[in-house]
Amino acid sequence: MVNIHPVPAFSDNYIWLLHDDQGRAAVVDPGDANPVITELEARELQLTDIIITHHHFDHVGGLAQLRESYSPRVHGPHNPGIEGIDNRLGDGDRAQVLGLEFEVMAVPGHTLDHIAFFHDGDPPLLFCGDTLFAGGCGRLFEGDPPMMLRSLDTLAALPAPTRVYCAHEYTLANLEFARAVEPGNAALRQRVQDAQDTRARAEPTVPSDIALELATNPFLRCREPALVDSLREQGRLDDASPERVFATVRGWKDSF
Ligand code: ZN
Ligand code: FE
Repeated sequence: MVNIHPVPAFSDNYIWLLHDDQGRAAVVDPGDANPVITELEARELQLTDIIITHHHFDHVGGLAQLRESYSPRVHGPHNPGIEGIDNRLGDGDRAQVLGLEFEVMAVPGHTLDHIAFFHDGDPPLLFCGDTLFAGGCGRLFEGDPPMMLRSLDTLAALPAPTRVYCAHEYTLANLEFARAVEPGNAALRQRVQDAQDTRARAEPTVPSDIALELATNPFLRCREPALVDSLREQGRLDDASPERVFATVRGWKDSF
């Protein structure tokens, strides 16, 4: 049995903390060591593993300090630019963390080194860093639209109940944009209401799940006639290929 808690960091990051009932813990993308150490001490946990999804500072900044304090096993991408990774992983590799088996998926686009970790359990779990967000997706800093679309297609094909643990609380802004893309989407209207209620209680909107993302996240809906028609009616689309639709929606979000 593994429990999962968010450790807030910086202004809007979530560092995910996993722990079993024997006091062993793992964290995902520790951009800052200090809130992680505070949480480990408060819960009397020993850090045995770290999972890294990509090289950005807000995901790896706490690595050196946590290695020094706890000597965890660090699982992450092949990118040699990230120092301190013991277990370098690529597409199709498997990693054992707290007795759970994770399948590694290459999901380039936000960065070229980005990987995601999927555990096919009950419920299934996905740690996807800055690739798939609740109601949105990461900016394309290193990849291009067709690459990111392929990565998101891979995640969209995971089981519907898969819990999606992304690394930022961007949900309300993402959903506001999603409403502009698809004003007629009733599931999206309901999600906006739910997310506003959740944030009003100062609770995280993450994790979401794949079923909800398929119904409401515009970046997973590039093949949906309802979304394509909505873009057309707004005069934003000339060519309805999924790559063109994705590039159009991503480009619009960048300046929204
Ligand atoms: Zn990032
Ligand atoms: Fe980030």
